[in-house]
Formats: sequence, structure tokens, C-alpha cells
Amino acid sequence: MAAMTTPADHDARGQDDGPRALPLPRPLLNRRLAAFGTTIFAEMSALALKTGAINLGQGFPDTDGPEEVREAAVRALRDGRGNQYPPGPGVPELRTAIADHQQRRYGLSFDPDTEVLVTAGATEAIAASLLALLEPGDEVVALEPYYDSYAACIAMAGGTRVPVTLRPHQGRYVLDLDELRAAVTPRTRLILLNTPHNPTGTVLTREELAAVAALAVERDLLVITDEVYEHLVFDGEHIPLASFPGMRERTVTISSAGKTYSFTGWKVGWITASPALVTAVRSAKQFLTYVSAGPFQYAVAEALRLPEMYFTALRDDLRAKRDLLSAGLADAGFEVYRPAGTYFVTTDIRPLGETDGFAFCRALPERCGVVAVPNAVFYDHREQGAPFVRFAFCKQKDVLDEAVTRLRRLAP
Ligand SMILES: *Cc1c(COP(=O)(O)O)cnc(C)c1O
Repeated sequence: MAAMTTPADHDARGQDDGPRALPLPRPLLNRRLAAFGTTIFAEMSALALKTGAINLGQGFPDTDGPEEVREAAVRALRDGRGNQYPPGPGVPELRTAIADHQQRRYGLSFDPDTEVLVTAGATEAIAASLLALLEPGDEVVALEPYYDSYAACIAMAGGTRVPVTLRPHQGRYVLDLDELRAAVTPRTRLILLNTPHNPTGTVLTREELAAVAALAVERDLLVITDEVYEHLVFDGEHIPLASFPGMRERTVTISSAGKTYSFTGWKVGWITASPALVTAVRSAKQFLTYVSAGPFQYAVAEALRLPEMYFTALRDDLRAKRDLLSAGLADAGFEVYRPAGTYFVTTDIRPLGETDGFAFCRALPERCGVVAVPNAVFYDHREQGAPFVRFAFCKQKDVLDEAVTRLRRLAP
């Protein structure tokens, strides 16, 4: 590293115009990304491995999705479907299955050829959408706390994020519609929405979504809406933002097979949007991954056609796990914000006499053999999230039982 020559060194050479300040060594990581460091999930998962603690930090299931979907992937691999570059927008079978799903479930019609784009997980869909739609200096209004890739991708696209903070109120994290309205300025290009919301578990209601939609129409904003937990709703219902008046043409809807089918490693995601928006997002996507996950695309096409029973069973199973972990956390002394959706539960650690979620999470594996994530990492203003900690419940029942037993040791 020490011998490395930076462009600044070259600038300084061959010029002799008297004494000058030595050039400062230029950091390798650019300014846009320097603030982000390593994701907390890496740190906490490493801690779980080192201590043998139960990892309720990162949100991945500890059992794989349906056998028949796995078999579909094996078949595609063996039959030579998708082993070479699939078409840029995604294989037609999957695009058609996505369009059918939106129609069947929400009554939204999308043309599989011009209004659907398959991506490398929702993560790439988010990145490509922001890179395509933002000019440097554009403002993005996003719900805080937010999924950690949002802030980094807005920064990579040169945008400025304007957080609107969801606040705990009567057991639920609530969006203040006046604050949302006030956050929109003449520089606002788009709203980045997420419902069901990670990490708080809030599912925006029809009234809240109608207000977001009305604001977007009134101020002529685009909306990117991350709906990867669309099938994980326990109370209330998920309503796609694109179904509100005036939204069909200005909304990029993102979803993914990772959370719905418990195949987070496959990284098959997608967007549905108007032809103009799909074309724009594809312009960025083609230079990120171009294409990905060929054989898995065929398998996800089959997954999207699973009978309704599959979704009901998934939901009922996770609802029972939510109730189990929420009750255990409450017994252990946490204040619990019971999530209406997603597979995360956010807690307040202040009733345990704690105020710093970071310190709490770093000590938790030693104290009782469980790993969780401090919600502060999901905030721009970290102090706002300081006393909150997130636990994932997408784990086998006996794992959750054991975690609850261990967490009871914290009870004052
Ligand atoms: C998990 C998650 C994603 C990423 O989805 P992938 O399909 O795994 O890329 C995006 N948004 C939210 C809110 C998530 O929780």
C-alpha cells in the first residue's frame, strides 16, 4: 500500500513553481461511500459465529423454501435453461408470472414485455432505480429508519436523502403525514417508500398510502416503493401504492423472491412500472449486472404460481413466530412494538435500564447468547434510534424457544 502512487503524486511531479504544500494522501474509498463502512450485519453475524450465539440479527430464514421450487431450479439447470445469459429484461416465463401475480392479487395489469424487469434481487432494483432516476443534487424523501442500502445507493447516485422519521406511538411506528408533506421541496425528485416496513414492521394503511399518493401527484414526484414483504402481513393488508389514482405512471414497484419464498441466496427480484420507467431503470441495470440467476428465474416463475395455500401457510407460520418472540421479549422486560408485517420485531431497551442499542447488542451474545441489531444503524440521526433493537423471527420454532429462554435471563 505504501508504495502505491496516487493521482495526486503525479500532479505534484514535474512541476517546479516554488514551495508548495505536500499533497494530502488521497483515501482509496471515495467520498460518496466513505461514511458507510461495513454493514452491521457482517459485524453481528461474525459475533454470532464467534460466540455460538443464536443469530436473530440478520433477516434470513434458517430453512429453505418449498421443495418443488428447489426442484424446478435443478430441472432448469439440468435442462440447460438459463445457464447462458438470459434475456436482459428477464426470461419471458418469469416476466409473465410476475405480471399474472400482480393481476391476480391486486388487479394491476402490466405488460410482461414492456412493464416488467427482472433484477439481481430487490437490492439491484433499488440501486438501478436510483441511479437511473436521480440527477446529482436531487432530493429523495425516505422513511427513516431505513433499510441500509437506501442511504448508500442514494449517495452513489449523487442524491441527497431527506429522512421522514417513523415514530413509536401507541405500540406502532407511525408516519406523520404533515412531516412527509413538509419534507418535499422544489428539489425533491422522488419518494422512496417501504411497506411493509423494515425494521419497524409497520404496514402503511389505505389512508396513509392515499395521502402519499395524493402528495406525489400534487407535487409531480416519482415514487420507488419497496414491497418485498408484500406477502408477510399479519394484521391489516398490503395495498400496492401503484393501485392508487395517478400512481400507475409514476411508481416503480419493487419485489423479490427472497423473502416470499425463503430463497434469499438466489437474488431474484423485479420491478413493475410504466414502459418509460422500466426503460430508464433498465438503462442502469444493464451496466450493473446485465443479467443474473438464469436457472433460478425459471424456478421463481413456478413459485409465483404456487396455490394461495402456500402464502396463507407462510403467513400463519410467521404470525405464530411473531407472537412467540414478541411475548418472550415482553417477558424479558423489553417494550415490544408488535409488527403488523415483515419478519422483524423492534423493541425498546429502556425498561431494562439500557439506553445504548449498540453497546447492548455488542454485549448481548456474552450476556445471554443471542444476537440482535441496533436500530440506530438505520437512522441518519443515530440518537433517534439509540434505544431500539431489532430481532428477526424467521427462524425455526425450537430456535426461537431457546432464544426466548436465554433472553429471560435479562429480566430485571
Ligand atoms: C431484504 C430486503 C431487500 C433486499 O432484497 P433482495 O431480494 O435480497 O435483494 C430490500 N429491501 C428490504 C426492505 C429488505 O428487507
